[in-house]
Amino acid sequence: MKHDVNEFDAAAVVASDRNHVWHHLTQHKPFEQNDPMVIVEGKGMRVWDAKGNEYLDMVSGAVWTVNVGYGRESIADAVRDQLVKMNYFAQSAGNIPAAQFAEKLIEKMPGMSRVYYSNSGSEANEKAFKIVRQIAHKKYGGKKHKILFRERDYHGTTITALSATGQFERKNQYGPFTPGFVEFPHCSEYRSQFGDVDDYGVRAALEMEKVILAEGPDTIGAVCLEPITAGGGVITPPRGYWEKIQEICKKYDILLHIDEVVCGLGRTGKWFGYQHYGIKPDMVTMAKGVASGYAAISCTVTTEAVFEAFKDDPSDRMGYFRDISTFGGCTAGPAAALANMKIIEDENLLENATQMGEYLMGRLHQLADKYNVIGDVRGKGLFAGLELVKDRQTKEPVDESLPIAIAADCMKQGVIIGRTNRSFEHLNNTLCFSPALIVTQAELDQMVDALDNAFARLAPNA
Ligand code: PMP
Repeated sequence: MKHDVNEFDAAAVVASDRNHVWHHLTQHKPFEQNDPMVIVEGKGMRVWDAKGNEYLDMVSGAVWTVNVGYGRESIADAVRDQLVKMNYFAQSAGNIPAAQFAEKLIEKMPGMSRVYYSNSGSEANEKAFKIVRQIAHKKYGGKKHKILFRERDYHGTTITALSATGQFERKNQYGPFTPGFVEFPHCSEYRSQFGDVDDYGVRAALEMEKVILAEGPDTIGAVCLEPITAGGGVITPPRGYWEKIQEICKKYDILLHIDEVVCGLGRTGKWFGYQHYGIKPDMVTMAKGVASGYAAISCTVTTEAVFEAFKDDPSDRMGYFRDISTFGGCTAGPAAALANMKIIEDENLLENATQMGEYLMGRLHQLADKYNVIGDVRGKGLFAGLELVKDRQTKEPVDESLPIAIAADCMKQGVIIGRTNRSFEHLNNTLCFSPALIVTQAELDQMVDALDNAFARLAPNA
């Protein structure tokens, strides 16, 4: 499968892109020294650029989004059928796919009850923050309004979502930020900040309690956490961590908000990342894999108890959730989400993510046996990271130029891999992998072979 290069004028498209598109997360000066890569077609795990080059995409559309792979006609058909029937209506009016998807989604999330639609992960998180703030006003005279977040976690691009983000590279130069967001330390076991003891997970969670006590528990409304930190370094939680976090939240009557924007919809081998850890969240946000990038949709899902807080007093004109998202009324999103979920179910993609994830971890550990520069191998399901270090004893991180060069080398071999961004102590030394949930063993082998070649060239053992 390769696109027909006569379909369009590739040089003209590349020129239009170069002259007029301001790319996301891109330093344009060095970028413009080469032709921009314009991706024009995708099928399954593979994409093609305007020059006809083929790539195996091991990061699901650069930012772990296309969970069911490219070129899914059933999703396109569902969206088309829905759009010609009824494309949009807002406010209190419902629509068929939104109702149906909410029902199906809640079936996958025991304990949860209500789905609030918007368009992006940032927006879904903003809705959750507004819910917390409004509950603080309704029930606690405005006092219990603070929201805790964790070093290295990312919750989105808007100023308030950034206020809840613990990553230097995303935040630097965008302040001042929204008040009332308080950071606490991360739980990275590999870079353990609180001593190398057996119960590291519990210790790391107790750091959150220290911050709660310092701020005053009666001022904290919620804590917002990624189940597995994605862009901050693919950080899996240590044993016992989540149990303790949940216990602390209960103890101080603090809402637990899990940001599943990356891990949601099968990425880790379960519908949601938190479901590996026996957590009972009060709010869950999701976006990327909800419709695998076939439409823009995000969801803020709450328990019935959270929802009830907005229903209790009809005489209070300001008591309801006074929030709207214009495009939360688009039907394309939930229509795509329904078809996307059907694919995950019909093709048993949770099982595939689990099995292929185990295979991937095995192959990455083999690479780590071969190259000393690999300090840590982490992951869950089809979400994995390799943290690179100069020395395994000191764990001194490599300069970010190495992961950048390794990713570029893989790209030359026709394999797209990812890397995290500068966050904790400005660290940027983790390669990451998040293939679509349809990935096969042969495709994982192709990626690991490309990595092997790149490490052999760029980071051979001394
Ligand atoms: N939360 C997490 C964990 C994310 O990784 C992202 C995006 N990478 C977001 C929120 C923000 O999502 P969006 O870019 O759709 O606003």
